[in-house]
Amino acid sequence: MRFALAGNPNCGKTTLFNSLTGATGHVGNWPGVTVDKREGVYKKLEEKVSIIDLPGIYSLSPYTPEEVISRNFILDEKPDCIINVVDATNLERNLYLTTQLLEIDAPIIIALNMMDEVKKSGRKIDSKTLEKELNVKVVEISALKNQGLNELMKAAYLEAKRERTGYSVLENSRIGKVIDETKEDLKHKGISSPLFHAVKLIENDEIEIKAHPEISIGVEELKNKEPKDEFNGDYEAIVADLRYKYISSKFSSVVVKSEKEETLTKSDKIDKVMTHRIWSIPLFLVIMFVVFHLVFSEDLLFLNSIFGLEITSEGWINFLTGMGAEVDELTGEVAALAGIPSPGVFLQNWMGFATGSLIDLFRSFMPEGTWYTGLICDGLLTGLDSIFSFLPQILLLFLFISILEDSGYMARVAFIMDRAFRKFGLSGKAFIPLLMGFGCSVPAMMAAKTLEDEKERDMTIRLTPFFSCGAKAPIWAMLAVAIAGSFLGDIFVFSIYILGIVVAIIAAIIMKAFNKNYEAPPFIMELPSYHAPQFKNLMAHLWEKLKHFVIKASTIITAAIILIWFLSNFGWAFWNGMVDDIEASILASIGKALKYFFYPLGWAQGVDGWKFSVASVTGLIAKEDVVATMAQLGLCDDAGESIAFLMTNSRIYAFAAYNLFTFPCFAAIATAKSESSKKAFPITLLFWFFGSYVISLVVFLVGLLFEASIILGILIILVIIGLIVLGLYLLKRRNTKALKAKNA
Ligand code: GDP
Ligand code: MG
Repeated sequence: MRFALAGNPNCGKTTLFNSLTGATGHVGNWPGVTVDKREGVYKKLEEKVSIIDLPGIYSLSPYTPEEVISRNFILDEKPDCIINVVDATNLERNLYLTTQLLEIDAPIIIALNMMDEVKKSGRKIDSKTLEKELNVKVVEISALKNQGLNELMKAAYLEAKRERTGYSVLENSRIGKVIDETKEDLKHKGISSPLFHAVKLIENDEIEIKAHPEISIGVEELKNKEPKDEFNGDYEAIVADLRYKYISSKFSSVVVKSEKEETLTKSDKIDKVMTHRIWSIPLFLVIMFVVFHLVFSEDLLFLNSIFGLEITSEGWINFLTGMGAEVDELTGEVAALAGIPSPGVFLQNWMGFATGSLIDLFRSFMPEGTWYTGLICDGLLTGLDSIFSFLPQILLLFLFISILEDSGYMARVAFIMDRAFRKFGLSGKAFIPLLMGFGCSVPAMMAAKTLEDEKERDMTIRLTPFFSCGAKAPIWAMLAVAIAGSFLGDIFVFSIYILGIVVAIIAAIIMKAFNKNYEAPPFIMELPSYHAPQFKNLMAHLWEKLKHFVIKASTIITAAIILIWFLSNFGWAFWNGMVDDIEASILASIGKALKYFFYPLGWAQGVDGWKFSVASVTGLIAKEDVVATMAQLGLCDDAGESIAFLMTNSRIYAFAAYNLFTFPCFAAIATAKSESSKKAFPITLLFWFFGSYVISLVVFLVGLLFEASIILGILIILVIIGLIVLGLYLLKRRNTKALKAKNA
C-alpha cells in the first residue's frame, strides 16, 4: 500500500513523514527536477505502507513544478490514500487545497495537524462539524509531539480499502450546471476523476485543455451562455472566489477563538511592531547588525570603541578572548586588545589556535626542504587551515539566520520589502529566493523557479550572488581582521551585506526601467504565525551546512589548493624543478598580466597586487578559495593579520566589493545558465563582469576621498544617495504617467 502526504508548504508534512517512517525514510529527487522526493515505510499496520511526502502546494493548478509533481502523482500513480495534512492554526487557507483534493476520485483523509499549538493558544476546533461538512474522516494530530499518529494511520488504512467518488463544494454554486455537464462529457469518454478534470477545464487549466481539446470547446460554449458578472468571464478567478466564499461561510465558525484572541493574537501583536510602516526597515537593519556584531565584533561590549578602555591580553583574559598573550617582538610589551570579543571571534580564535598548533605539530615530523613537505605543509595545510579557522564563525552566522528563518521573521522581511518596492513597480516575491542566497546561490536560483514571470525570474537569478553566500563569509571574516581599527570588523561585514542588498535593489529598479512592459505580478502571501525555532531543526540546518562545507573542502577546494601550489612553485619550464622565488613562478606571470586589468581598482596596485588578482580569480572555483589562495601566497596568516600592512581600508573595501559582485562560483554559474532564459544568460554574464568592476572602482575612489578627508567622503556619499533618490523619483513619476496613460 502507498499513502501520499499532500498539503500546503510548512503545514508539517515532512515532520509527519519523519515521525511516521523513522529511520526508513530517504530523500531523492523527482525525475527531471530538483524538488526533494521523500519516501519511507510505516510498519505499525498489518501490512507495510510506503509513505510519500509530496512537495508543498497551495493549489493543484499547473504553475509551479511542485504543483505539477503533486498533481501528476495523485492522478497518475493513484496512491491508496491521500493524507491531506492541514495546519489547524491556519485552517481556512489550508482548506482551499482540500476543496480541490476532494474533487478527485480517491480515498482521502484529513490530518488536522498542529493541534498542540491550537490547544496551547486556547482555541477550539470543532472537527466533527468539519468532518460532516466535508464528508471525509478528520483526525486531530500533532506531528511534532507524536500525538494521534496511530489513529491517523488506522483511519487511513480503513479508508484506503473503500471506494470514494469525488465531490465538489462548487456543485451547488452558480456554476454547478456547467460543472455537471462537463463532468458527464468526460465520464462518457471513460476518464477517471471526471469531476476534478471538469473543474480544471472550466478554470482554463492549460494541461487539461491540451488533454481534452474537443471538450474544452464545448465548455467555452457553455460558459458563453452564462450571464456575465464582475469577473468578466475569468473562470479561474470565479472558481477561486467561490471556493473561498464557501470555506469562509461554512468554516469560520468551526474555529472558536480563545478569549484573549478575541482582541489580538500574539503573532498579530508582534507584527504590529515588526511590520510597522515606518519602523520595520530600521528594525530589520538593527536585527541584522546585532547578528553581525555577535559574530564578527572584536569589541562585544564596546569597551574600547565607546569607552576607550584598553585590555591587555594577560592572565584570565586570555581565555575570554581566546587570543593568547600577544607579545610585541621589539619592545617585549604585552599587546593591548580591542576588547572582549564576540562569541564568533572567540570561537574563531580558538579554532585558529587549535588548527595552527596541529599543523605545527605535523610539520615537526616532516623532513625539511623536500617538495612534498612544501606541498603538504605550505600548500594544503596552510590553505585548508585558513578556511577551517573561520568555520565556527560561519556556523554561528548560519545559526542566527536559521533562527530568523524558522521563527517566521524572514517571511516578514519579504513582506516589508514588497510593500516598499511595489512603489517602484517591483514585487517582493523575488525576495524569498534572494534571501535564500544568504545561504548558497545554487538553491536560491533554483527557488526562482516559483516566480511565474520570466523576466522577473531572470532578474532574480542575476541578482542572487549579491546576497552574500556562506562561502563568501570567510573572505569578509578575514578582511574584517585586516581592516584598520579592527574593532570595526562587525561594521565592515554588516556594511558589505547591506551594500549587496542595496546594489541589488538599485539594479532591479534600473533593469525595470529598461523593461517598460514589465509589471510586478501580484504578491499574495500569508504570513505564517511566529514559532519558537525548534532546536532539532536548527541543529539539522547546521549539520547540513557542516557536511556541505567538509565535502567541498575535501574535494574541489583541495584540488584548487594543489593547483595553486603547483603554479606558484614552478616556472613555465616546470621540468627544471621548483623555483626559489615565487616571482618567477607561472602563477606570478599570470597574476602580473591580470594585475593590469584590475589596476584601477586599487587592490591590484603594489608589489603584492598580482596575488590579490589571482586570489579573486580563484574564487570562480569556490569562493572559499579566495582566502585559501591568499594564505598560500602569504598575504595573510590564518587570522588575516599581515594583510593589514599591505592594504589601506579603501583597497580592502574595493577588494571586498569586487568579490561580492563578480561571477559567483562555477556551480552557481551553471545553475544560472540552466535556470534562466536563453536570451538573458549572456547578459547576466556581462552584467556580473562589468558590474563588479564598476562598483569596485567606485568604492575605491570614494574610499580614497574618505582617507583624504572624512568630510569630503561623507559629502560624496550624500551626493551619491541624492542622485539615487532623484533617479528613483523620476522613475516613479514616469511609471505613474505611463500607468495613467494606460488606464485612460
Ligand atoms: P512541510 O513544509 O509541510 O514539510 O513542513 P515541516 O514539516 O517542515 O514543518 C514546518 C514547521 O512546522 C516546522 O518548524 C515544524 O517544527 C513545525 N511543525 C510541524 N508539525 C507541528 C506540530 O504538530 N506542532 C507544532 N507546534 N509545530 C509543528
Ligand atoms: Mg517539507
